[in-house]
Amino acid sequence: MLRPMSDAEPNPTDTASTTDRVEEVVPVDVPNDETLMERVVNLSKRRGFVFPSAEIYGGFRSTYDYGPIGVLLLRNVKDAWWRSMVQLRTDVVGLDAAILSPPAVWEASGHLVNFTDPLVDCRKCKSRFREDQLEDPTTCPTCGAKDSFTAARQFNLMFKTHAGPVEEDAAVAYLRPETAQGIFTNFANVLNASRKRPPFGIAQIGKSFRNEITPGNFVFRTREFEQMEMEYFVPPDEVEHWYEYWCAERYNWYVEFGIPEDRLRMRPHDADELSHYSSGTSDVEFAFPWGWGELEGVANRGDYDLTQHATHSGEKLDYFDQASGTRYTPHVIEPAAGATRAMMAFLLAAYDEEQVRGETRVVLRLHPRLAPYKAAVLPLSRKPELAGVASEVHTMVADRWMTDYDETQAIGKRYRRQDELGTPVCVTIDFETLEDRAVTVRDRDTMAQVRVPIDDLMAVLGERLP
Ligand code: ATP
Repeated sequence: MLRPMSDAEPNPTDTASTTDRVEEVVPVDVPNDETLMERVVNLSKRRGFVFPSAEIYGGFRSTYDYGPIGVLLLRNVKDAWWRSMVQLRTDVVGLDAAILSPPAVWEASGHLVNFTDPLVDCRKCKSRFREDQLEDPTTCPTCGAKDSFTAARQFNLMFKTHAGPVEEDAAVAYLRPETAQGIFTNFANVLNASRKRPPFGIAQIGKSFRNEITPGNFVFRTREFEQMEMEYFVPPDEVEHWYEYWCAERYNWYVEFGIPEDRLRMRPHDADELSHYSSGTSDVEFAFPWGWGELEGVANRGDYDLTQHATHSGEKLDYFDQASGTRYTPHVIEPAAGATRAMMAFLLAAYDEEQVRGETRVVLRLHPRLAPYKAAVLPLSRKPELAGVASEVHTMVADRWMTDYDETQAIGKRYRRQDELGTPVCVTIDFETLEDRAVTVRDRDTMAQVRVPIDDLMAVLGERLP
């Protein structure tokens, strides 16, 4: 039998629940500005989402490490993408291609020549900028000097290295700046192995590297990041249809996982913004605390990549349609998202504060599919009597969901910690549990508590958790 209760500070002695007193909750207005950014960055460090990389050595230029909670959140973002892009579809297959690749790939793709940003230096203070990101191209934003910029130099963003022990030209390799090319170079392999035919897609999640001139804004722009990309190969005359289709799909994906629509927009590129391969691109943009920023680009790449690789490699990269007896080079629609950037947007959108009985409660209202822990098992006290049943419950729940276990501190503090991690439900074991084999299930968003027999726990959690 379920017995409703409130989230009043639980009785520290014997049960997880106390009275039926209704919580006094006053919403706090958290403005979407640099103070939100500060709160999220602080929370990330404090609770183990994101740490500055090599911090004990002073950090390393906008690189970040994902801590015990961040690794779960990032993985859930990638899993949610994979689930909707691959698992739930019959027309998309996966791939995991190498990060190191030979110059021939990047020569064919156009990246050796075109993957550049215009770099300018301020002669006065020596600061460096991407010219296309300057609000006023005549004034240095660091020192205010007028007309102090050098002429723009085109700076290639690819990381170059050498494969093998000898640093010679023959051994040059690049770290991929996008995952997409591994998909194009495997087009024929996948076509032959998978029995797919256009329209079909190849999806890939993985690290990419760009020697960004101005990394920054936390994990928004880093030199090492993760992408979630899919190349969707279609008959040329269907390309417009699929472009519209994927723009809508991808926008809706962010809405489904909790980005409010007033902080999301689709922005078509102007002609002078288009990448060297694209005949049409729309960005899914999120209202970051500093303004609109790209989460994902949906590009019509035409037949550019397959044609380039076919020409440079001498291999046939086209498709023979037996039904119509025609051979054609498929056109490509590419939804290209950043996993790390999306994670940051989900964090910013989920961050919330409210006043509960005069105290601030920070709560991450993450979609349950994204939440790092789905549940936390909290024995009310460390007394050995509770350890056995608590461990039994943890083993049962953890078998199905990522589950935290925490037995330190007062229960109220532990609830607040789980709220900050975005854990949708807490399962509290108290001394009554020893009598009635029931536990208290507490909801993150409403703080409402219900008493649930252990035998029914998995079914009750199954109604709330994916
Ligand atoms: P931007 O204009 O922000 O430099 P882009 O248009 O060059 O991005 P794409 O090449 O379209 O980006 O890459 C697809 C996605 O990969 C981007 O929408 C973004 O989410 C992610 N991404 C690209 N560069 C970075 C980076 N330096 N750090 C983190 N994520 C990135």
